[in-house]
Amino acid sequence: MPIDPWFLIAIACSLVGYGLYLVGLRRHLVQPNRASWLIWSAATAVEAATYAAVNPSALPGWVFALSACACAAVTIGIWRRSIWSAPSRGELFCMAACLAALTLWIVSRNAFWAHMLVVVAVPVSFWPTWQSVLQDRTRERSPAWGLWSIGDLATLLVATRSGDQHVGEYAYILVELLCHASVWFMVGLATINPLRSLGFRHGRFYVLDAYSPAANLFAVGETHLGKAVYAAQGFAEGDAIIRFTGRRFRADQVPSLMRGSSDRFVQVTPQHFMGPSGKIDDLINHSCDPNAGLRFAGGSVTLVAVRDIAPGEEIAWDYSTTLAESNWHMICQCRSPECRRVIGNFSTLSQARQEWFRSRNLVAPYLRRRDAVTARDRAA
Ligand SMILES: [Zn+2]
Repeated sequence: MPIDPWFLIAIACSLVGYGLYLVGLRRHLVQPNRASWLIWSAATAVEAATYAAVNPSALPGWVFALSACACAAVTIGIWRRSIWSAPSRGELFCMAACLAALTLWIVSRNAFWAHMLVVVAVPVSFWPTWQSVLQDRTRERSPAWGLWSIGDLATLLVATRSGDQHVGEYAYILVELLCHASVWFMVGLATINPLRSLGFRHGRFYVLDAYSPAANLFAVGETHLGKAVYAAQGFAEGDAIIRFTGRRFRADQVPSLMRGSSDRFVQVTPQHFMGPSGKIDDLINHSCDPNAGLRFAGGSVTLVAVRDIAPGEEIAWDYSTTLAESNWHMICQCRSPECRRVIGNFSTLSQARQEWFRSRNLVAPYLRRRDAVTARDRAA
């Protein structure tokens, strides 16, 4: 009997998907949750085993067995790099369902209901991923989701063309298809064509850029203080990292309740502030020992690396470098050994530290000018 070509397509899509997901992980393009992957590994293994028991000799069983192995390989691969969050209630339910299914299978030898139990658990296990993508869709920006969906579709075709077609054969394939496709759609229209998430069209040519370092400079993650921006690629000292944008506000228009880490206003002149842009620059945190600083030149404000930044490092700048006299202050929990505990305006920095920023051209111009005025006054 010749092998169904859709069977080969299904296996290829699934395995290439796992491979691309690992590539994305190495380049910090995806931020999966370890608990989810651990549970998916266990669940896909039980799923593949019960599927094979319900549908002996059905070809899709091989696709699932291979995905279960690949899933375990990804889990091992991501263990060091991914975020750990404790298993959620849904994930605990999923684990319990897997254990119950195994028990049911062993004790009652009823593979069908054991299989159905795990099928129900699959959407529950996707819950944390859906939540994570809703918050920030760049966390799962991998063409793998598209490939897995296409692989599921191919598996569905294989199932319709062979076997005796019953619920036990379709349920798992359909649930997997819906779950993978939902993440694919949530990740964004750019990845509806899985190839598009690898690059963009330039004239007649297709440029594969998303997995070249330059295209993905940042990743958003969480620290003990909330959202933070991480370097997805290395930056050399002096490199421009990102341009700060945002509407300008007069000082008296800045909400007076803005205090501490919720404050996303950057003072750009003695009378003006730049408001939040709604983009990634809003999420860049303060550090008392920053690896970046703000450079003001010709009306634009750019974050510049003050030392080499390795991929995966959090990007941070010192908020005091853009503040003139003001009673603004923030309790700092940056956890650097240099931490000043309370962050205030530029004059609260030590003379040496002020000089350090000035010599690198990393202070707001009005602070430079004021400095020049003081120097002139002193000379007079
Ligand atoms: Zn600090």
